[in-house]
Amino acid sequence: MKNILIYCGSSAGHNEVYKNTATEVGKTLANQRLTLVYGGGSVGLMGTVADAILENGGEAIGIIPSFMEPWEVQHKGLTECIITESMHARKQLMALKSDAVIALPGGWGTLDELFEILTWRQLGLHQMPIGILNTNGFYDDLLIMLKKMVTEGFVKQANLEMLIVDDNIESLLEKLRNDVSEGELIGKWIGRA
Ligand code: AMP
Repeated sequence: MKNILIYCGSSAGHNEVYKNTATEVGKTLANQRLTLVYGGGSVGLMGTVADAILENGGEAIGIIPSFMEPWEVQHKGLTECIITESMHARKQLMALKSDAVIALPGGWGTLDELFEILTWRQLGLHQMPIGILNTNGFYDDLLIMLKKMVTEGFVKQANLEMLIVDDNIESLLEKLRNDVSEGELIGKWIGRA
């Protein structure tokens, strides 16, 4: 496990615990010689994680779609910055360059990316471990909803178990390294109730 794909808010949130945790994430990645792969922004938690890893001697690869260039939200100090034609190309390249995925707190963009990467894994398109850093219980209500999707028969229990949750970045990284969840691939459940 070398490159960690981080999805997180382009906002910082109201409670400073989110920014502080994003700083800790960047520092921890640098200390463990892990490379950050992310959306390339300088704003919100995205900028905080990138600043923290770079300030601690680590490496950050940003992947940003060309339509965002004029917004000037791009981080200017990255180890590598890749511009893509589209949002879809960006998300695909972020996944191709990474070995594991972590979602920090965020908004629509973060949830879009998280559920897309979960869906791709359910379809067998990749085998990366996927985690949520549940800072301040931010994802508690979402996790209740996800359990409901299992009990109501819309998500397989095995596919819920692909999602690894922890509120501490070091133990989350350890769990991702030791992930043995398999999920149930689409080929196994096609045609089953
Ligand atoms: P959100 O959670 O809605 O703030 O969106 C954050 C996610 O969407 C990030 O993981 C990015 O990949 C992408 N994104 C949204 N806004 C930006 C931005 N201003 N700059 C770069 N990436 C962004």
